Amino acid sequence: MTALRTIPHLINGARQDGGQRLADVFDPSTGRPVARVALADAATVSEAIAAAQRALPAWKATPPLKRARVMSRLKTLLEDNAARICELITLEHGKVLADSMGELQRGIENVEYASYAPELLKGEHSRNVGPGIDAWCEHQALGVTAGITPFNFPAMVPLWMWPMAVACGNTFVLKPSERDPSSALLIAELALEAGLPPGVLNVVNGDKEAVDALLADPRVKAVSFVGSTPVAEAIYATGTARGKRVQALGGAKNHAVVMPDADIPNAVTALMGAAFGSCGERCMAVPIVVAVGQATADAVVAGLVAEIARMKVGPGTASSCDMGPLVTRAHFEKVRGYVDHGVEEGATLVVDGRGLSVPGHGGGYFLGPCLFDHVKPGMKIHQEEIFGPVLGVMRVDSLQEAMDIINAHEYGNGTCIFTRDGEAARHFSDHIEVGMVGVNVPLPVPVAYHSFGGWKRSLFGDLHAYGPDAVRFYTRRKAITQRWPSAGVREGAVFSFPSSR
Ligand code: NAD
Repeated sequence: MTALRTIPHLINGARQDGGQRLADVFDPSTGRPVARVALADAATVSEAIAAAQRALPAWKATPPLKRARVMSRLKTLLEDNAARICELITLEHGKVLADSMGELQRGIENVEYASYAPELLKGEHSRNVGPGIDAWCEHQALGVTAGITPFNFPAMVPLWMWPMAVACGNTFVLKPSERDPSSALLIAELALEAGLPPGVLNVVNGDKEAVDALLADPRVKAVSFVGSTPVAEAIYATGTARGKRVQALGGAKNHAVVMPDADIPNAVTALMGAAFGSCGERCMAVPIVVAVGQATADAVVAGLVAEIARMKVGPGTASSCDMGPLVTRAHFEKVRGYVDHGVEEGATLVVDGRGLSVPGHGGGYFLGPCLFDHVKPGMKIHQEEIFGPVLGVMRVDSLQEAMDIINAHEYGNGTCIFTRDGEAARHFSDHIEVGMVGVNVPLPVPVAYHSFGGWKRSLFGDLHAYGPDAVRFYTRRKAITQRWPSAGVREGAVFSFPSSR
């Protein structure tokens, strides 16, 4: 038996242990542990925050272009090391390698956008707002900022956060998911290689104890969180009560509407990837199809059944596979429990993936694709986020009925409509209570130069993640009004409110 490697923290540019506790990290395709991750205690988190605090003055004073150049070099290093990073994502998360590559590419695009920070940080300047008076507005760094990230995009979601935070002159403490922490750590080490000074980006591995320590520390000025809604809500409430700026992105239940005039074969293939890609473990996954009209529903269900029969499920490292395992044993049990529950509450299980076995991978957390028909509002499999390969079809008679179902749902992350009718698409995007909308696009995840965020209980806070909103989130604006008194503009005491008289 070989000893398992330990995944440490990265503090002040060096790997180090910290905290008495360790947690196993598993290969979900075998169910065997592949590493142990150190779980930081409050003292370790405090050390990381102190390192970030020490690095702050010099980094904040570094010219924005020099900070941006680190991002440009990091982009190249990420591309050069993509295979290594994606192997780690697939090993610990389970998603197929091609999907890991897709995730990393979207992360790299955020690094690329952060390399434009000098342009984005330019303020607004007004000359001569009064006699000899100039006024301008500038974006200043907040200080030490922190990010807490979920398991499902272990490389990309951290890259939504810290590259722009540090490009704006902040320093950062990242707390990745303890279920698959290795890729975020490797990327942080590549950032050091790219020239990020020690202490500017620190990684503390851990769980709730580490998160609580980050939230309790007054040196942390802002927190970005991505994860499940109950935790997002709690972090938003606690962080803001302590005077921090918080953006907390939560869970989702995304609906795809299929109209009778849609290109059905195209909609069906789009839905396959959106529902079963990454085993349904995406906050922008589509777990519910709302088919308008019985004929549409029949055609969609028939198409999905045929496509599902062609799907290959197995280890993420096998290039022939479309879908890997779920992330942990506990999550596997939870998702399978939802399928049992859906049957009990009366939905029709058209494809049952519960009996799947993958030869040579008996211990893996594999659940085959599941398809429900006749899902109804109020059923638990419609109300709750399942986060697995379970797709439900709802049957309605009109677009309005579909929109009412979506608008009544507590989540509002993403949605999409498949149609050839421009007027219907426009009406849908105008009136749907959801933050990100696709028209014949199943996963409308905005590109890096637009921001990402849901509505309702999918996001707590005002500013969305990455893109232009990230510049606003990681800076505070300062308005400066300046006069250089000269003989011509010198005047005596003025007691009326200053105005352009
Ligand atoms: P999670 O909420 O369990 O964990 C997210 C992070 O919070 C992890 O770093 C974890 O260590 C920490 N955490 C967990 N419980 C905590 C607690 N009680 N107190 C403090 N910290 C805690 O989420 P997950 O299972 O890792 O990720 C899946 C969830 O994330 C899904 O709900 C998914 O929809 C959501 N998600 C949302 C988005 C988005 O952009 N809206 C993107 C990706 C994932």
